[in-house]
Amino acid sequence: MEETTNPETPLCFDLPKLLKRGGTATIQIDWDLEEVSTTYSQAHHLGGELRAEASGDKVVVSGELNLGWSGPCRRCLETTRGVDELAVSEIYETDSTDGETFEIPLNQILDLRPMLQELMLLALPLTPLCSYDCRGPIPEEYPARSPGSQGTEQDIDPPIDPRWEALGALTFEQKEDT
Ligand SMILES: [Zn+2]
Repeated sequence: MEETTNPETPLCFDLPKLLKRGGTATIQIDWDLEEVSTTYSQAHHLGGELRAEASGDKVVVSGELNLGWSGPCRRCLETTRGVDELAVSEIYETDSTDGETFEIPLNQILDLRPMLQELMLLALPLTPLCSYDCRGPIPEEYPARSPGSQGTEQDIDPPIDPRWEALGALTFEQKEDT
């Protein structure tokens, strides 16, 4: 396989060169991250293999990457780390559709970073959890419900007290105080 990565900008590719052999190419991703984060978690590393495939005037980039992240556990607030799968399946084309496909740059240097950053922001966990049975910082006082106990009494709406039922039929005319 021809070397397609540029050591200085390892996620930028010369498209014609990349796709010279039979219209497909393999791209190795090994990217240390510092500035991809949300309020809840931060991306540290993206690794794996992507496949670029030319079809007509489009280039399809696809593959499964591993996204390493860290963030505070939503129950105990301890820093927790994890690795999530990031499925990539994106289309680059010369006449892109906003929000659906990406534009092939005029200079034919394809920079995968903006696309991957976008996907990572969507994939980062919103509610990290150090372990499924994390009991929180002070389980004696504030017990966290274990996953197995969900869906019992809280799923059933308590019956409405008959004394309040009449209120449900009332409508209020709102007076506008000026
Ligand atoms: Zn925890």
